[in-house]
Amino acid sequence: MAGDTRLVLLGPPGSGKGTQAEILAQRMGVPAISTGDMLREAVAEGSDLGRQVESIMSSGALVDDDTMAEVVRERLGRQDAAKGFILDGYPRTLPQAETLESILQRSGAELDAVVLVDVPEEELISRAVARGRSDDSADVIRERLRVYREKTRPLVEHYQERRLLREVDGYASIEEVNRRILDAVA
Ligand code: AMP
Repeated sequence: MAGDTRLVLLGPPGSGKGTQAEILAQRMGVPAISTGDMLREAVAEGSDLGRQVESIMSSGALVDDDTMAEVVRERLGRQDAAKGFILDGYPRTLPQAETLESILQRSGAELDAVVLVDVPEEELISRAVARGRSDDSADVIRERLRVYREKTRPLVEHYQERRLLREVDGYASIEEVNRRILDAVA
């Protein structure tokens, strides 16, 4: 794929979209931007942002849209994102999708596609338990999935209406899912 690439990876927690974002970013020469990683770094650093989001993150809830807008506006404004990006974990709500649209509009850019990496819920729960991350206790996983269904899943229709959505079955090996994504955005 030549030229600028601006992709959003959408999918439930544990779908492997973070791994896929890294692979795609390498291949396309653009940064993978994971808001979850950015927030975890802020928590690790003990910054104001980190202190603000720590308990929200460990409960499985979403950080508020205004805070996320600041984080993403700053990140997308950096030089390395001028030629494109793979966004992983943002947007997660309809207002966030609108914020992203307005950030991109201001620089005359637009999304190429939004890839939904879909995985059955049962598989997500066993993957998350196997990962054993500290924010991944069974209750928190269930809460994260509930929040995904309620707040994030509506983005599927939003991006379908804009003809940007590409659906990929994410229930396969990393390599296979990567091939499917590349086919879907070709
Ligand atoms: P992730 O690694 O993408 O699953 O993100 C981990 C946690 O960070 C989420 O459960 C949220 O608490 C928070 N987070 C990450 N991205 C966002 C976002 N776009 N909007 C709200 N909260 C977010």
